[in-house]
Amino acid sequence: MKFELPPLPYAKDALEPFISAKTLEVHYEDHHKGYLEKLQAAIEGTPEASKTLEEIIGNADGDVFNNAAQVWNHTFYWMSMKPGAGGEPTGPFCDAIKKSFGSFDAFQERYVEAATGLFGSGYVWLCADRSAEKLELKPLPDAENPLVAGGRPLVCTDLWEHSYYLDYQNGREKYVRAFLDQLVNWEFAAANLEAARA
Ligand code: FE
Repeated sequence: MKFELPPLPYAKDALEPFISAKTLEVHYEDHHKGYLEKLQAAIEGTPEASKTLEEIIGNADGDVFNNAAQVWNHTFYWMSMKPGAGGEPTGPFCDAIKKSFGSFDAFQERYVEAATGLFGSGYVWLCADRSAEKLELKPLPDAENPLVAGGRPLVCTDLWEHSYYLDYQNGREKYVRAFLDQLVNWEFAAANLEAARA
């Protein structure tokens, strides 16, 4: 097996009550692993089999792109959360948010708007632009991710119904607000911004 799924960075019940163990179980064991298995099957015996996941995402289309991007996107989404996290960040990362969005409250509202405004499935991505000075929000459909356009993702929220339906039914806004208030891992985002600036 060429690609391995990294283990979840926390126990499956660690994000309760905001994301249930049942949701994480299905999302990681069925969806994330499922994308990996489909990718492996699709690239076996092809030149893609010797490429990195990022190289495949940058060059493929159709099912190979969708499954490769979904493997990458989910790993990034798990890292975008942490038990006992969320709320307003501190330090240079918070300064970057305020510089780009005016205030932390304004940023949060823009994040919720971007997430609830995305039609159908996809992700909302907080990214740094090419200069890594300005932060921006990108709601992208399906498996699309900002790597393709040279963006530097900092955190993302999975907006496919499988991420929240068991816990929130059709309450995408409630889920996204819980993500921002209780779960988002700003240390991960700050480290990604630092790497983008290096
Ligand atoms: Fe998902």
